[in-house]
Amino acid sequence: MTPDDAALTDAPEELPATPGFEELGITGPVLKAIRDLGYETPSPIQAATIPTLLSGRDVVGMAQTGTGKTAAFALPVLERLDVSQKTPQALVLAPTRELALQVCEAFESYASRMKGVHVLPVYGGQGYGVQLSALRRGVHVVVGTPGRIMDHLAKGTLDLSELQYLVLDEADEMLKMGFAEDVEQILAQTPEEKQVALFSATMPPQIRRLAQKYLRDPEEITITSKTATNKNITQRYLVVSYSQKVDALTRILEVENFDGMIVFVRTKNETETLAEKLRARGYSAAAINGDVPQVQRERSVNQLKDGKLDILVATDVAARGLDVERISHVVNFDIPTDTESYVHRIGRTGRAGRTGDAISFITPRERYLLKHIEKATRQEPTQMQLPTTEDVNSTRLSRFDDAITTALGDAARIESFRDVIAHYVRNHDVPEADVAAALAIVAQGDTPLLLDPADDQLAKAVAADNRPPRERTTREPREPRTERRGRGDYSPYRIEVGRRHRVEPRQIVGALANEGGLGRDDFGAINIRPDFSIVELPANLDPAVLDKLSGTRISGRLIEIRPDRGPGARRSAGPRDGAGRGDRFERRDRDDRPRRDRDDRPTRDDRSDKPFRKPRHKSGS
Ligand code: AMP
Repeated sequence: MTPDDAALTDAPEELPATPGFEELGITGPVLKAIRDLGYETPSPIQAATIPTLLSGRDVVGMAQTGTGKTAAFALPVLERLDVSQKTPQALVLAPTRELALQVCEAFESYASRMKGVHVLPVYGGQGYGVQLSALRRGVHVVVGTPGRIMDHLAKGTLDLSELQYLVLDEADEMLKMGFAEDVEQILAQTPEEKQVALFSATMPPQIRRLAQKYLRDPEEITITSKTATNKNITQRYLVVSYSQKVDALTRILEVENFDGMIVFVRTKNETETLAEKLRARGYSAAAINGDVPQVQRERSVNQLKDGKLDILVATDVAARGLDVERISHVVNFDIPTDTESYVHRIGRTGRAGRTGDAISFITPRERYLLKHIEKATRQEPTQMQLPTTEDVNSTRLSRFDDAITTALGDAARIESFRDVIAHYVRNHDVPEADVAAALAIVAQGDTPLLLDPADDQLAKAVAADNRPPRERTTREPREPRTERRGRGDYSPYRIEVGRRHRVEPRQIVGALANEGGLGRDDFGAINIRPDFSIVELPANLDPAVLDKLSGTRISGRLIEIRPDRGPGARRSAGPRDGAGRGDRFERRDRDDRPRRDRDDRPTRDDRSDKPFRKPRHKSGS
């Protein structure tokens, strides 16, 4: 290919043309909102789901976070919303409050061009007051966790009689968290005539049964991705939360030996803002997206080819078929919504038999995507570390050295300045090295040449993202965890519901997870005693979480959670509310049980024979 050829080619690996949102049936204010957000094309799950939902048919969709599934169900709901109806028209059930809030925010952004649409998050841990007054004022969409929705239904404060759309989001997670019964009860309390969409990352038999029972002739939508592999591309990833991405990218740009680079982001707006930020940091960067006229896009691409530009910040659409040999690096600033796009993106490097580097930023919640990438590329991306301040400093010093060496090569100019310097040294009686240092200050300006390793806030923040979720202090939502916690990491907590109250472990996990924002792996053994239960929770549980949990009810009873100090303490202190009840219980237990069982704290045996230690192993229950 000659440099004059069109840089945007119809390469064979070009993504197939996808219909736009308009062709899927999205119109008016919803379409405008999507344009405001800078979404260029629907993601595969959106392309498949939106027309089906708009046609009124139920949907079972296999999709995870990051695929764009929220818009896949939210857009059709909003498209058909009757704003004049004040009782809830749509209900979305989500397993955690983080997800519920996220879905709410998404709904609000998609409804930003509509007038008077009210979306209400309803989750445990938040006072009822706000929820009740909002419900009284009238809401169109309710997004909630099953436990709290059940509470509202029991209190008669949530009217689902006019409900038309029901969405089960991350259905498998909801079941794993012990919400199966709640979900079924909620389903049973909604009108017959409604549309249901169920989204789940996996399709265990339980979910299939649920779908068969409550959905009518649903269309099953699974997004399969073509696999492709390009062995000359090295794939790496960095776990980093959204707010640190720009700084992390800047650091990578400093130390990585790159020639030309494409940085992929999700939306048109982001191409502009990121390119601007990179320019402000001294890089030659330009944005290309579907809104940039073709002529200008080609100009930017040609500049990249000729080395007049080093970085293109692009969306998938703008980079279709892009073929520039000089691109040594592809950075997925945002991971794409499907693996097909991923494969296409990284294929922009490693052209013409060269090697290429692909670096992907993965937020802690997106870690699971690595498995998909691995499957799609048949290559395991390796985790990279954020370049340290030392790495950055040594690159800066060698660049500084190189600049001196290059300047020294310009003999004529060196000659002309030598006299000026000699004159200064003679008149001011300063060593030449000091004059050189002073000139370095002039050249460097106010920006320090080196970073201070003792003040590396970015490394601290990125390290926090890379710690197991339990230890994280950032606001990044939790993600499913795979590693097991060691025994010493848990502490026993006592809650005032037991076998007598017909409580089951999954209810405990569901309620505590929901109200306290805990993840499944925050639970150790659960030992249900006749009148109370002992639950193992992280030893370093934030007192604020405990505070929130204290108002939780299970089976209608206030759980009054508190650290358990063992049977001795239980005997002397007793439960806070029941005069003497604890004593009676302890005596009976002491008398009736074999000696080795007297300690109510969970033992190793408890742990091994309690399958609910990890609720996700309970599938099929
Ligand atoms: P979700 O899977 O719904 O959590 O969406 C993941 C992310 O993709 C969110 O940040 C959305 O804003 C974004 N997103 C969803 N659909 C699109 C699209 N068609 N184009 C670009 N970004 C999208």
